[in-house]
Amino acid sequence: MRLCSIELINFRNYDRLRLDVPGGTHVFYGANAQGKTNLLEAIYLCTCARSHRTGRDEELVKHGCDFYRVSIHFITDRGLRESVALEYKLASSRGSKPTRTIYYNDLEVSRLSDMMGLFHAIIFAPEDLQIVKGGPSERRRFLDVLISRTDRGYFRRLQDFWRVIGQRNRLLKNLKARGVLNVNDTIDRISDCRTVFDQENGDLSTEEMIFPDPRAQLDIWDEQLASIVSEILKKRLEITEKLSEYASLSLRHLTSSQEQLDIHYKGISGLDKDMSRETIEQLYLERLRRSRDDEIFRGSTSSGPHRDDLLFTLNGVDARLYSSQGQQRSIVLSLKIAELMLLTKTTGETPILLLDDVMSELDHSRRTRLMEVIQEHQVFLTCTDTAQVFPTANLDVGDEESGDKDQQSKRSKSKRSKRVRWSDHVFYYEVFEGSVKPEGQRPAEN
Ligand code: ATP
Ligand code: MG
Repeated sequence: MRLCSIELINFRNYDRLRLDVPGGTHVFYGANAQGKTNLLEAIYLCTCARSHRTGRDEELVKHGCDFYRVSIHFITDRGLRESVALEYKLASSRGSKPTRTIYYNDLEVSRLSDMMGLFHAIIFAPEDLQIVKGGPSERRRFLDVLISRTDRGYFRRLQDFWRVIGQRNRLLKNLKARGVLNVNDTIDRISDCRTVFDQENGDLSTEEMIFPDPRAQLDIWDEQLASIVSEILKKRLEITEKLSEYASLSLRHLTSSQEQLDIHYKGISGLDKDMSRETIEQLYLERLRRSRDDEIFRGSTSSGPHRDDLLFTLNGVDARLYSSQGQQRSIVLSLKIAELMLLTKTTGETPILLLDDVMSELDHSRRTRLMEVIQEHQVFLTCTDTAQVFPTANLDVGDEESGDKDQQSKRSKSKRSKRVRWSDHVFYYEVFEGSVKPEGQRPAEN
């Protein structure tokens, strides 16, 4: 896949921008707070309608404006020319709702799920460290976004899940209070501007509906919920297993080490990756029944995909608690490369890569390894100093871990070096206060 052009209107600190880009590597450089990350964020937004930095679209609208628009043209590996555009308008008056409209090849997409998997980009950003260091919701979102991008059915199942769990929770509260309950049925509308990846942090809007006998409804909701949950868990277990395999391979490649990374899915007790969907459904149903009294007391559903987590272990111990900052960074990089491998395998397309200021944080060896991995892709990267990006293109195979300090001796050993072939061309752009000045093409620095 290759991005051909991007157009922004009122997006973050950009008034208007139109940029045509060929294949190759695109380096956006400039001082802090000029709009480098904003540009990558806009490209990433076209993959799943959610920014990698925030679930709140209103933050993306340029201050003082009432809408933003992002549109891209791209060409798939099969040679098809396609486009995706997103438009978001703030609520025009009190009581009205903001609206989001998505276009695919200039036609309006009515369901958010239909935009999943149209355009593929993977972002490597400093925020990714939260996947390892942050709370469980960061890891759940990472997994949900990854699966949804290759499986629209999964995304719809997540939407069903949030709808049903919202209804069930209202019923639980109603059972406790013996009053009236609310039901939400509107989650797949694009005008509901949060994506399912953010439902756990947001309120579901409501319509009122009265159940004559709430207690009698609970069994029905439990069965519906268990059926949806079993599909979600089956898919999450399957992808976690692949992710673990690919990420552990990438970590070994990146660090040339024998460190063993494993990823486990942490769900309800008794859950196992080899279980059938039906067995998972039964297991979850039993769990709901056992905790029913407690859940009525709390007025919420205490177990399920909205509570689960991923556990990263490095050499058998919890990486979140025991790994060093550098080890955590390497784990994140391995996860991202695993994501790249998974997406490429399932879609048959080579995703576009967005590297937000990551090169400066990597040592020489990891930077070189990363360059090897990404060289077949169209790459957009940001930095404050271009010297950080291509310091040296040679990887000394026999001495990968020695870092930057002995680069001179590395050069002298260049006969033993394996030459890293960077993309054919590198293009530079200066980013300054929400404008981008293309500086043209330079020959690859390898
Ligand atoms: P760094 O090198 O520090 O990462 P950067 O070039 O990547 O910097 P960005 O995050 O792309 O910086 O842009 C930050 C700028 O965008 C800041 O000046 C910020 O005030 C501005 N900005 C962010 N959101 C908006 C918005 N909604 N409206 C106007 N300006 C915004
Ligand atoms: Mg930035």
